[in-house]
Amino acid sequence: MHLVIIGNGITGVTAALTARRLQPAARITLVSDETTHHFSRTALMYVYMGHLRYPDIKPYEDWFWQENRLDLVFATATGLDLQRKELTLSTERILSYDQLLLATGSVSRFAGWPGQDLRGVQGLYSLPDMARMSRDTHDIKHAVVVGGGLIGIELAEMLHSRGIQVTLLVRDAHYWASVLPKPEAELIDQQLRAHHINVRYRTELAELLPNTEGHVQTVCTTTGEKILTQWVGLATGVTPNIELAKAAGLATDRGILVNELLETSAQGVYAAGDCAQHRQPGAGEVPIEQLWYTGRAQGETVAHTICGQPLPYRRGTWFNSAKFFNLEYQTYGRVPVVPAPGEESFYWQHPTAPLAFRINFRPDAQFAVTGMNAMGIRQRHEVWEAWLQAATPVQTVLQELGAANFDPEFFRQHEAAIVRQFNEQFPAQPVTLKRRRGLLRALQLNRAAR
Ligand SMILES: Cc1cc2nc3c(=O)[nH]c(=O)nc-3n(C[C@H](O)[C@H](O)[C@H](O)COP(=O)(O)OP(=O)(O)OC[C@H]3O[C@@H](n4cnc5c(N)ncnc54)[C@H](O)[C@@H]3O)c2cc1C
Repeated sequence: MHLVIIGNGITGVTAALTARRLQPAARITLVSDETTHHFSRTALMYVYMGHLRYPDIKPYEDWFWQENRLDLVFATATGLDLQRKELTLSTERILSYDQLLLATGSVSRFAGWPGQDLRGVQGLYSLPDMARMSRDTHDIKHAVVVGGGLIGIELAEMLHSRGIQVTLLVRDAHYWASVLPKPEAELIDQQLRAHHINVRYRTELAELLPNTEGHVQTVCTTTGEKILTQWVGLATGVTPNIELAKAAGLATDRGILVNELLETSAQGVYAAGDCAQHRQPGAGEVPIEQLWYTGRAQGETVAHTICGQPLPYRRGTWFNSAKFFNLEYQTYGRVPVVPAPGEESFYWQHPTAPLAFRINFRPDAQFAVTGMNAMGIRQRHEVWEAWLQAATPVQTVLQELGAANFDPEFFRQHEAAIVRQFNEQFPAQPVTLKRRRGLLRALQLNRAAR
């Protein structure tokens, strides 16, 4: 069997490694036009900031690939012939396959603003994007970032680390308004202010104007402001990279359409990770998942199917984490901006420090927890996964909250304050905090859930 994988991101590489384990004799080829070797996209910002070097963000040594008989091809796949089972590469080489996995990721999405193609205007997705940003922001003093999501704040932090003054345009009334409840967003706003980022809420990009050399010079906003700048970062989202699949005649919508086995409309051709769109996502799940851990999970799942062990893709408990300057954020389960009908939301915030904790639960279903947000307090993944899968009552979760605390031992603990506030707010359901026993029970629960 010759398995060809287009894309050496987390999805393609996880699929390759899983396939190698399942089929030691298979021939496996990874094609990528970004880099020869896999690197961690999520760590790109730390290379720009000088915390890591490029070799540090490659999870595997360069000899690893040959050692595991994974052939690496640095080229763009420019054509796909589904009948002949052949790929055309930018090097003019023709590559035949028995099975093909499209793991082509995403591309930055821009809204067609006048001036978006000027020099000094870009998104941040790839390693070449980061290199270009590094070059073009060397020695500049002012930059504008457009976008109030994860990459927007990441760009602001990167620029800030080089002493560049940043203006951040955010369309909504508060940061990441489509995802975060307002109190959590305000904690992030505090971080932005503490780092002297000039945030303009309810403000969108209208137009970019050049100087006489064709380099961006002025950002015109929808509020009528004209901001002088030397560089503009567009962080307005990504869209699945479906160009090759679409040209080949595969069924596509916003992404490459796949069934639960991650099979596309052509036999022997699969799609996974950021580029895939699930025809029938599970209840409460989204059709396009553009996250690192879902890419890894899809890569592992699809490799089983490719190697003759069909495995439907199930995402499991939703989680995500991020860091906003100094503030860590974790979320498990579902925490909508406003609680869903029939749901209660309990929120605790430290009176002075940037620490907060939210638990959503359903009073009409034995008080089962449905989601959690933690800001500045680290939580244990496996404990929350077990609590959510077992629809654990909120009282039990709060009693055993110490079991989920993942902060280093010398950090101050806040469970007692959280439980005290819960008891004040919900006096009919009093909770007494337990510690060690809670840890044991939660770990038992986790084992049972596995
Ligand atoms: C700056 C940044 C920070 C992020 N931080 C986080 C985070 O903290 N947490 C999180 O969960 N997610 C994060 N993400 C999102 C996460 O990185 C992606 O969801 C994940 O990398 C997608 O993996 P993938 O393997 O599906 O695609 P990709 O990583 O995009 O890999 C696809 C590869 O395929 C190559 N390719 C595409 N078409 C062709 C072709 N025709 N020929 C050859 N090669 C081709 C591309 O060049 C690319 O190298 C971040 C993304 C960015 C850009």
